[in-house]
Amino acid sequence: MPRNTYFRPQFSADMLTVDCFTFNPFSENTYLVYNQALSCVIIDPGCYTAEEKMRLKEYIAHKKLVPQLIFLTHTHIDHVFGLAEVKKEYKVPIYGHPLAAKGLATTELVAKLYGLTVDLPPAIDIFIEEGEKISLGPSSLDILFCPGHAPDHLVLYDPQEKFMIVGDVIFQQSIGRTDLPGGNFDTLMDSIHRKILPLPSETILYPGHGPETTIKEEITNNPFLK
Ligand SMILES: [Zn+2]
Ligand SMILES: [Zn+2]
Repeated sequence: MPRNTYFRPQFSADMLTVDCFTFNPFSENTYLVYNQALSCVIIDPGCYTAEEKMRLKEYIAHKKLVPQLIFLTHTHIDHVFGLAEVKKEYKVPIYGHPLAAKGLATTELVAKLYGLTVDLPPAIDIFIEEGEKISLGPSSLDILFCPGHAPDHLVLYDPQEKFMIVGDVIFQQSIGRTDLPGGNFDTLMDSIHRKILPLPSETILYPGHGPETTIKEEITNNPFLK
C-alpha cells in the first residue's frame, strides 16, 4: 500500500490526494496526485523491478485512476527507471524542464555505471518552466525551478492545499546531494531559501526520498538550514 502520513483537512470538493510508493535500489518515492474525478499525475516513475511496475499499474487500475500526464521533478536515474513502462502503458505526455532532455540522454550510461539496467527513456513531450502550471480538473499546481541538486530540477506546489512535491531539493532533516554532475551547493541553498522556505510554514513537503515533512519542521530541525 502507498504511504501517506499527513492527512490534510478537506475543505474543497475537489481535494487532491497524494499517494507515495517507494521503489528501486535507491528507495525513491514515486507519487500519484489525483482529484476526486480520478484524474491523475504520475510523478517520477521510479519503479524498477517487474514487481514494482506491476504494483504501480495494479494500484492505478484498482483505484480507477486516469493518468493525464507524467511529470519529472528531474531526470536522475532513480526517478526515471519506470518512465518507459508508464509511457508505454498510459500514452500520456511527459512534462519536464527543458534541460531534462540532456539528463535523459545519459540515463542508459548512468544505469550501466551503477550496474543496473533501464529501458531507453522516451523523450520529454512538453517542456515546462517556472511560472507555468499543471492543471488537474479545477485544481492547478504551480511550477517552481529549484536547481542545485540537478540543473533541471522542478518542484510542484499547490498553494490552495499547501503541499509541495519537492523531489531531491530538500528531505526530512537533510538536503539533496550536490556532488553529481550539474550539482551546486550554493545554488541548492539559494533555491531552498528563496523558493521553498518563504511559503506558508504548514506546507507539507513530499520529497523524493524518505518521509513527508513540513516547512515548519525543516526550519526547526534541518541541520542544513541552521
Ligand atoms: Zn536526484
Ligand atoms: Zn533521487
